[in-house]
Amino acid sequence: MTAGRFELAGWLVLDDRVALGRVTVEDGWIAAVELDEEGTAAGLSSEGASRGADDRPLIAPGFVDLHVHGFGGFDAMGGPDALSGMARAVRAHQVTSFLPTAVTASLDALERFADDVRAWMPHAPEDGAQPLGFNLEGPFLSEARRGAHDPALLLAPADVPTSRLDRLAEGLRMITVAPELPGALDLIAWAVERGVVVSLGHSAATFAQAQAGYAAGARSTTHLFNAMTGIDHRSPGLALAALLDDAVAVELIADGHHVVPEVWPLITRLKPPDRLFLVSDAIALAGTGAGQGRIGGLPVEIARGRAVLAGTSTLAGSVVALDTAVRNLVASGLPLPHAIAAASRNPLALLGISDRGRIAVGQRAALVAFDPQLRVRPEAGAGP
Ligand SMILES: [Zn+2]
Repeated sequence: MTAGRFELAGWLVLDDRVALGRVTVEDGWIAAVELDEEGTAAGLSSEGASRGADDRPLIAPGFVDLHVHGFGGFDAMGGPDALSGMARAVRAHQVTSFLPTAVTASLDALERFADDVRAWMPHAPEDGAQPLGFNLEGPFLSEARRGAHDPALLLAPADVPTSRLDRLAEGLRMITVAPELPGALDLIAWAVERGVVVSLGHSAATFAQAQAGYAAGARSTTHLFNAMTGIDHRSPGLALAALLDDAVAVELIADGHHVVPEVWPLITRLKPPDRLFLVSDAIALAGTGAGQGRIGGLPVEIARGRAVLAGTSTLAGSVVALDTAVRNLVASGLPLPHAIAAASRNPLALLGISDRGRIAVGQRAALVAFDPQLRVRPEAGAGP
């Protein structure tokens, strides 16, 4: 937390518009927001921003990545030092809060991951993104839609006693579940009782099975369209169930590979704006420039900007950073306040966190600054 008082001036990305003004920060909290009389640029787009024709910075709430496996050579499952490295690496991409995310592993390994994150959280570096807990993407996934998860380690919820689940509960904020698996609906109820957000994904669910998962309390959808049944007009599945339920949030990996940009309007027109959020799904290789690495023990290679399981075309997470994803979304025509909310306010709201994510008095000053083309202005970053 940055002590003292300072002021940031520029284009403020507010809840529903972009306006010229100043933010006063006191001891890490927003103490005042003053708007200038002139210059309100409602729905400033990337085009509008570059035509906005001044070089005052854009100031926005810091980004929040709820689904990220690693960055900058550091793996979320690599222990405390790797978690610190990862926190700093994503902070360089304007991420101020995140959930270190495990891939499928043995229950013993997931317990070690959970213990590591819990022990590390109080000591997370001040110059890194702040951890909000952790996310488990596996092991309760469908083998048929496993993507880059190790099939030998997948489990049906019915085969795991609650006593073992309970050891994972503290700090767990989000878990991906395939709702069609035996015991999945009980697992969803277990999670909901503990305030854990269930995200449906890596699933071969029919439309009805997906609806049953949401009815049981699941509230989100893991990397929409990827590793799930889609919108076939005669046998619709999870993707369509997610798109048509206004209460349900969806993750988008906006790297242009996981969902091609031509399909994005289907999402942005169908989902209420506050139900879309960006995730990186980045792996440790992201941000390193290296061509080969591993995820959950499986070899991964980078081919034309895509991370794939070595020797296959199966996507294995991404190498996109959240700031690039925001830029891509704005370039596709989404109003800037909506794109920023998808990377800040919306994922926080899903976790029930309301003390940050907006430029408003009384909020934590987890703010970031960009030039009008949405490139990072490192000098104006206001801390976590
Ligand atoms: Zn993932």
